[in-house]
Amino acid sequence: MEEILGQLPQKAKEKHTENKKFFAKLKKRPSKKLDYMMQELHEAEFERTDCLDCANCCKTTGPLFTNSDIERIAKFFKLKPSQFIDRYLRIDEENDYVLQQVPCTFLGSDNYCSIYEVRPKACREFPHTDRKKFHQISNLTLKNVSICPAAFNIVEAMKKKISV
Ligand code: SF4
Ligand code: SF4
Repeated sequence: MEEILGQLPQKAKEKHTENKKFFAKLKKRPSKKLDYMMQELHEAEFERTDCLDCANCCKTTGPLFTNSDIERIAKFFKLKPSQFIDRYLRIDEENDYVLQQVPCTFLGSDNYCSIYEVRPKACREFPHTDRKKFHQISNLTLKNVSICPAAFNIVEAMKKKISV
């Protein structure tokens, strides 16, 4: 996995123009079966890829925290939301709450998340490859393929399966 992660940014860069063109076409004429196909591609990829071998999203980007994430996780730590914010979060350029640092403070050396049951919604949904109307988040996906090996493989499989 180390080798795959090391090569991923370069591989994503090489595919960037091709991916951008693919998503631009897909946006114009999204397949009626897109949601169903994405579900299939997502499930097939995550049968092969074990996030516990990777954790690259937790190591390199981290999620944004919604107000309900903050309330839920603060409660888990028996902290007030304001105490949780002071201890772990900062506000980014887009005015969202994000981690003060990456790798994420809650990531263990074994790649387990110590707040898994209450983790932010963004962590639960990353890399968003099973969401409905996947073509609507193409800009985000173009970035995610350089972080997430599963997202990279899913986009490669999409291009083979879906003619645009
Ligand atoms: S979601 Fe992607 S980047 Fe995150 S741990 Fe799983 S495979 Fe790695
Ligand atoms: S909260 Fe958990 S799942 Fe989310 S980035 Fe941190 S370690 Fe990863």
